Amino acid sequence: MPFLKPTRRQMHGLIGAAMASPSLLSGEAALAAVHHGTHGGKGKKAPAITGKAQPPKPVVMLDPGHGGKDPGAIGVSGTYEKHIAAAAAKELYRQIKAAGHYDVVMTRADDHFIPLEGRVDLAHRHKAQLFISMHADALHDPGVRGASVYTLSNGASDAQTASLAQTENNADRFAGPAFHGMSSEVQAILTSLVHEETRRGSAHMAASVVSAFKPRIGLLRHPARHAGFVVLKSADIPSVLVEMGFMSNRHDEAALRQGIYRQQVASAMNAAIDRYFRGVGTSPTRSG
Ligand code: ZN
Repeated sequence: MPFLKPTRRQMHGLIGAAMASPSLLSGEAALAAVHHGTHGGKGKKAPAITGKAQPPKPVVMLDPGHGGKDPGAIGVSGTYEKHIAAAAAKELYRQIKAAGHYDVVMTRADDHFIPLEGRVDLAHRHKAQLFISMHADALHDPGVRGASVYTLSNGASDAQTASLAQTENNADRFAGPAFHGMSSEVQAILTSLVHEETRRGSAHMAASVVSAFKPRIGLLRHPARHAGFVVLKSADIPSVLVEMGFMSNRHDEAALRQGIYRQQVASAMNAAIDRYFRGVGTSPTRSG
């Protein structure tokens, strides 16, 4: 009998159940939970859904970087990254709402500090299907400009990215919010089940961002990079961190200060979100 690969939604439920009830943790119980959600009956086709109820929209979580006591990078002419991140995220939020295809939530709508683990926690609490952290950090080299997108990896793709992640992660320390109260054995089992699918989803979103930005927003060379950013450490929610540009570059800083440019960035990100969800096939009906 072929192994039934749980869907992301089922895994999400499973992790939730495991967190709520640490006793429901044997392999059999886990599989029972997965199968329970998979089929309506024994070998019978599930009845057709005839009601008019719309399936719930996928939830997109936008995470404007920094905030409150943490200004993020400070631009060459004094702009705070936290303000740029918030303004761009609000614009993207507006565009997503206007299109109406997704539910959208923000980790912060005003200027207050949220620890990094709190951001991942919020994404889980809202059952987000996609997590997008928005930044405009600084690099040592003021000549480097352009947008780039980051996915999680234990090793950074290059030295520049490693130092970026280190600065970013200095905001606080990661404490494994998704797995509080679980044994390390259980964590390992759940992580291995969801990790590969999450990794593929994140990579797909990063590629979507690069494709959507390419025609209209200047990109860094090799724009899809990876490093151990704490905000990307959700085990089951595909996550990317977008650097819309760098505060250390005067051209990027000047562009990101302008509402019209942030509109273009947000519009490209909106297109990337569409491309992402088309690619992962959110529609549950697939008749043979
Ligand atoms: Zn940042």
